[in-house]
Amino acid sequence: MPKRDYYDVLKLPKTASPEEIRSSYRKLAREYHPDLNKENAKEAEEKFKELSEAYEVLADEQKRKHYDMGGFDAVSQDFGPQGFNWQNFSHAGDLEDMFGGMDPLRDFFRQAGVRGDLFGGMFGQGFQVASRGRGRDLEVAIRVKLGDLIQGIQRDVEVPRADRCEDCKGTGAEGGTALETCKTCGGSGQVRNVRRSGYAQLVTINACPTCRGEGRKILKACTHCGGAGRLRVNRHLRIRIPPGLDDGTVLRLAGEGERGPSGRAGDLFVQVIVDNGTFHREGRDIYTDLTVGLSQALLGDTVRIPTLSGQAELSVPPATQPESTLRLKGEGMPPPGGGSRGDLFVTIHVRLPDRLSSEQRDTVRRTFGEPGGVASLPERDKGSGGFFSRRKG
Ligand SMILES: [Zn+2]
Ligand SMILES: [Zn+2]
Repeated sequence: MPKRDYYDVLKLPKTASPEEIRSSYRKLAREYHPDLNKENAKEAEEKFKELSEAYEVLADEQKRKHYDMGGFDAVSQDFGPQGFNWQNFSHAGDLEDMFGGMDPLRDFFRQAGVRGDLFGGMFGQGFQVASRGRGRDLEVAIRVKLGDLIQGIQRDVEVPRADRCEDCKGTGAEGGTALETCKTCGGSGQVRNVRRSGYAQLVTINACPTCRGEGRKILKACTHCGGAGRLRVNRHLRIRIPPGLDDGTVLRLAGEGERGPSGRAGDLFVQVIVDNGTFHREGRDIYTDLTVGLSQALLGDTVRIPTLSGQAELSVPPATQPESTLRLKGEGMPPPGGGSRGDLFVTIHVRLPDRLSSEQRDTVRRTFGEPGGVASLPERDKGSGGFFSRRKG
């Protein structure tokens, strides 16, 4: 096939915008995709490749500029000595939504040798470049109430992840047997390139381009998993969240991530998000507020207040000052991992009556005296002790 101008291939004028380039590529890719042209597969594949080469160049601002100025020669060094091949193609992701995870397309790219890491983005299958290595790590978040962390709590979660296809034992080949050792790399998945540079010998080890580092070639793809060797499953996990964790703590469950093609799994990271409710937490200690009426503050009372684990009785002593702090020992949080609990500090706010009858005003005058015209500073504003100076007392 004689080489055609990239713009002609994509049926675009030289002034086309990046958006027009992308949309034309997508449109033509749909038209010429080999799997949608079974009767003319060979020709369609050639066209699809030609199209993808043009797109590889024109979709990249730098490469496009070089091509506009110097033609094919100016971009040829971007590709191998044989010209464009599928290993040079870095835009498989642009077709992602188009084929909706269609297996034939994935197989096409697999066979064509497009780098494995694209598949992760394309099909959510978690393929990785180092496809012999472990699977991807996964993350989930779990919300708990502060009170749940006094004892710790168990939570059931469903984690969608790639798991080994048992039909093909993770090989991706029908029955686990329809495969052969890669002839290029002899099954190691790697190719070495030894080069002399002066006195030094440079050894470069790359993933084998024929089998993309897998060491084997699938002769017939497993029909159950479409040759991926893995399937998406929802895995149920019971996660034990230990007591006393801080908000945002991340737990790591080794081996509960996605399973790689070799069977080695990544890890699952569980972020614990703590809902503090009406409480404020500082380490093991918990703070909350309580509003009492004037007579409660003056005469004292016993009130029920919400705590982390339910309710508790709090004794408000007579003549309790507004904004003073009372303490309930042992009603705070345990330290991370468990241990003796901190305290609950309750800041008392006093609500004054909205109005007084003349009778009540007389009583106040008789009891506390006439207003003297000089306001005394509240005790908490004196000195440097600060707002919470008495709470530990
Ligand atoms: Zn399978
Ligand atoms: Zn190989």
